[in-house]
Amino acid sequence: MHLDSAQRSRLRVRLVHLRHEAQRLLDRHRESLVVQGEHRAVGDDTDEMQGEELAGTTIALSDQAVRTIKKVDDALRAMNREEYGVCTACNGPISVQRLEALPFANLCLACAEEEEAETARRRHVPVYQQS
Ligand SMILES: [Zn+2]
Repeated sequence: MHLDSAQRSRLRVRLVHLRHEAQRLLDRHRESLVVQGEHRAVGDDTDEMQGEELAGTTIALSDQAVRTIKKVDDALRAMNREEYGVCTACNGPISVQRLEALPFANLCLACAEEEEAETARRRHVPVYQQS
């Protein structure tokens, strides 16, 4: 473990805080979806189209909040197992600076960059060029 207990408890506080924030956002998005639904029930066709779009955005934001909550939970669980700050891909330590910036990071910088490049490659290369 390359983190001292002060660093870890500070990061734990931040994780718990991030979880609260994401949960609060999620509740708000869900609430707004209900309101949008009620609004749409009485709206005309134009409202409906705008409503669909708004609902799509709200759902995307909710998904993001759900993902954040999941990542935070994973990080807190890892903390309890004394595995926090360890890259899940290469088992190397994740730098303190990176964890300070992204407390729920589960990849070290090198692995994260590699994954990002991989995702970008998959996204940009047309299927017929892949082999
Ligand atoms: Zn790694």
